[in-house]
Amino acid sequence: MQGRLHLASLSIVWFRLDLRLADQPALAAALARGGPVLPVYIHSPEDDGDWAPGAASNWWLHQSLAALDHSLRQLGSRLILRRGPALDTLQQLARESGADAVFWCRRYEPAVVARDTVIKSALRAAGLEAASFNGNLLIEPWEIRNQSGRPFQVFTPFWKQVLRSTTPAVPTPAPACVPVPARWPDGLTLEALGLLPRIAWYSRMARTWQPGELGATRLLDAFTTAALFDYGQGRDLPAQAGTSRISPHLHFGELSPRQAWHGVARAAEARGVEANNWRSWQYLTELGWREFGHHLLHHFPHTPTEPLRAEFRKFPWRDDAAALQAWQQGRSGIPLVDAGMRELWATGWMHNRVRMVVASFLVKNLQLSWQHGARWFWDTLVDADLASNTLGWQWSAGCGADAAPFFRVFNPVSQGERFDPDGEYVRRWVPELASIDNRFIHTPWLAPEPPNSYPPPIVDLRESREAALLAWRKMRASSGDA
Ligand code: FAD
Repeated sequence: MQGRLHLASLSIVWFRLDLRLADQPALAAALARGGPVLPVYIHSPEDDGDWAPGAASNWWLHQSLAALDHSLRQLGSRLILRRGPALDTLQQLARESGADAVFWCRRYEPAVVARDTVIKSALRAAGLEAASFNGNLLIEPWEIRNQSGRPFQVFTPFWKQVLRSTTPAVPTPAPACVPVPARWPDGLTLEALGLLPRIAWYSRMARTWQPGELGATRLLDAFTTAALFDYGQGRDLPAQAGTSRISPHLHFGELSPRQAWHGVARAAEARGVEANNWRSWQYLTELGWREFGHHLLHHFPHTPTEPLRAEFRKFPWRDDAAALQAWQQGRSGIPLVDAGMRELWATGWMHNRVRMVVASFLVKNLQLSWQHGARWFWDTLVDADLASNTLGWQWSAGCGADAAPFFRVFNPVSQGERFDPDGEYVRRWVPELASIDNRFIHTPWLAPEPPNSYPPPIVDLRESREAALLAWRKMRASSGDA
């Protein structure tokens, strides 16, 4: 009798960064109990500590919540929106709805982990069933260790171990129906969450993206039918659509990495490629870097603000607000850097090759700390993700795990000549250079008549490179590492 009653009781599914219906283990657990399901999103940016979502993320979140609500409504259900501290809100919702269980997919940001641990114990202490699931990683950070039993700090052995230890489960389809509560508790309107900025600067972003599960699947399908097979070359050319652009969808959990993995597997096998071949494809390795970022964030939770390699705490970063602003606004006078920063501002995304170039330019040529860059990306990227952003910035600054060595300074001119040889990408984002001769597209200051509307470089690339290397050598000498 008790069992039957239990089966019919109401479960709350607490949506967070898992805004989808397919391959959603928290939703699946609630449905498996057989009773009604109350889908909830709680807006509580204060719970993210110093890393409350930035403006571009909030824009995306607004659209993504609308898309999730729409999908639920097609199944006769809906998404209840609340704001406030998550624990109080969940307890309040449980009281109002009579729910006796709360399910969610895990997040990995240190402040959120601390909060969720408290929430789980408090809900259990109050007599509710509380369970969390892995919805967003191929392998969770605590599941693997290196041969010495420590967290990995080098990518290649990490990824090999992941491939040895796991075969991602086949994703489950979206449910055909979601049983609804007899009475819906009150919820806020989406507008009341205040996610959209007052000034609508996001029109280009809105034209570029389709946030939500449908947009995510469309992008993955388009990528796996074409660009996937030329990813090895295409992924480095910023003017081309050579990468999948699923990063914001993965961040918001509109798509799981298991779905991406199996999307690749299906496409490869349809072309007769065998598993022991496609499993080593570069594209899956990139998904592996995302996993690596989460592994590092979990085991080294101080790294969003502190360098992993302690000697970098002494690096003599410069303070130069004007240079930082020129970098942020895409007015550094270095075409590839400016194109990237303008692409970021307009679309909320930047090609990975260009991210590496603009990051190297900031921390090495301008000698401004990587934390400035991480914060700017945090506010402007639609895929801003604490694990991947920390990894990317510490990698670029040479102070992280398996990072590019500091002495490897990307030259934005030769990077441009190599990966954007006709300047197609630069011309797209820096219209002042649209008609400049190809020979000067990456060095307009050398043109016989440089365009008036485009600024001269804010630093000399060679001199600033030497200055950065000198600062690095001094740092090493002072830490006894030279
Ligand atoms: P694809 O090339 O299609 O790759 C597929 C997926 O693999 C990506 O969606 C992403 O989830 C993952 N991936 C690919 N490259 C990396 C990488 N280097 N590190 C971690 N995951 C990777 N990525 C973010 O998702 N959020 C960030 O905040 C972020 N900040 C970055 C900051 C810097 C300074 C740098 C150098 C890189 C950063 N990246 C970040 C990584 C990378 O640039 C993006 O994931 C990638 O450009 C997304 O485009 P895509 O989906 O087309 O990638």
